[in-house]
Amino acid sequence: MKYLSTRGAPAHAEFCDILLGGLAPDGGLYLPETYPRITAEELARWRELPYAGLAFEILSKFITDIPSADLKSICDKTYTAEVFCHVRAGDDARDITPVHWLEPGRLALLELSNGPTLAFKDMAMQLLGNLFEYVLDKRGEQINILAATSGDTGSAAEYAMRGKHRVRVFMLSPHGKMSAFQRAQMYSLQDENICNIAVTGMFDDAQDIVKAVSNDSSFKARHRIGAVNSINWARVAAQIVYYFKGYFAATRSNDERIDFCVPSGNFGNICAGHIARRMGLPIERLILATNENDVLDEFFRTGVYRPRSAAETRVTSSPSMDISKASNFERFVFDLVGRNPKVVAELWRQVDAGQSFDLSRTPHLASLPGFGFVSGSSTHADRIATIRKVWEGYGVMVDPHTADAVKVGLERADSRPVVVLETALPAKFGETIREALGREAERPADLAGIESLPQRVIVMAPDVDAVKQLISSRLSKQP
Ligand SMILES: *Cc1c(COP(=O)(O)O)cnc(C)c1O
Repeated sequence: MKYLSTRGAPAHAEFCDILLGGLAPDGGLYLPETYPRITAEELARWRELPYAGLAFEILSKFITDIPSADLKSICDKTYTAEVFCHVRAGDDARDITPVHWLEPGRLALLELSNGPTLAFKDMAMQLLGNLFEYVLDKRGEQINILAATSGDTGSAAEYAMRGKHRVRVFMLSPHGKMSAFQRAQMYSLQDENICNIAVTGMFDDAQDIVKAVSNDSSFKARHRIGAVNSINWARVAAQIVYYFKGYFAATRSNDERIDFCVPSGNFGNICAGHIARRMGLPIERLILATNENDVLDEFFRTGVYRPRSAAETRVTSSPSMDISKASNFERFVFDLVGRNPKVVAELWRQVDAGQSFDLSRTPHLASLPGFGFVSGSSTHADRIATIRKVWEGYGVMVDPHTADAVKVGLERADSRPVVVLETALPAKFGETIREALGREAERPADLAGIESLPQRVIVMAPDVDAVKQLISSRLSKQP
């Protein structure tokens, strides 16, 4: 399988070539040159497979430059009941992503948050950690991951990379701005290859430092700086697997069609659903749910994509969906405009200049219904009401992001079952749960008391040169 860029660079790269990188050289995003079509025979056979076996089959379609036996053992080592152990009472951890029915035949949760950091980002990031280690070993190279986080992505990256040889992580977070639980998750890691840096500023200050360091191409090359952000193709590819697994768990035969409802921010999760559908998985509709930051809902309702300014981006109680523009959306638009890179390049020239684009009076919008998307949005009050309703109605506690999707999923449901992707566990968002339910969020037993573990973090001013110096000195001390 070869990979092309959404902005026109031809398909020369293979999977391992793009694994460690970010954007394509022309500024576009990588996509496979075609989506593999799944036959009825394959779909029948896959229904019986355990998660790791299914991951191997699906990833084999996209990864043709790693020997099969090696890819198989990477999948087996990644998707284990020991790593994805935080399933709901009564569900089987061997399923990795169990389906939990709220109303049988009508509404279910696909549990994606059973990994070490209690959010769905573990599903892809755990695989990424093992793929990185494998490819770097083969090449005799190293990588130093530099990233900024406001919570979820950073901790998922650290838990995926901890203890991996040839990989170091420098993670910037805003000092004093994350919850006690999130701080404890990240800062309690004692692994030598994980370096937590708390900058005395906001998330944007941390993000700006990462951008400044990445723009210094000689520093970047000399120190082998890499990223693991949401546009990484391997992350999207890994997420395709659980749409298949969820479909098989929620249906009895491959003639049935279901809807998935996805709480969305950067469009990474639902992009994987879009690709699963293009591969031939019988998904009828992809229901996209946003919070108050409704740039994607607006697009699917009107055909206008209007990225927001920082000032227009709201801080909400489903913070992992607080985005001003959706970094993976370009992948979908590439397919929507008939995979014409000239059209995409022109649209993103406008986006990169801070403008919006309008497809409503173009032929492209006429093809939109064929992609199966519908959308809706949710507010803080909706979130609180939904958390309460799901708790009182079904005895199940859901996190605020999942609540956004339950709200929109119920609103948009028609005759088919709706499977809502559960993207985090309530333990991560205790304050909102207390507001909704007047009680503490459930927390997995192995994470009790995590706040009292010793923490390891360097606090520093938001200063690019100081961060560069820290990286240089750490790397020069390496064995
Ligand atoms: C990252 C995240 C999302 C948004 O996913 P995208 O792939 O960015 O659309 C939703 N919920 C939670 C809990 C997340 O961590």
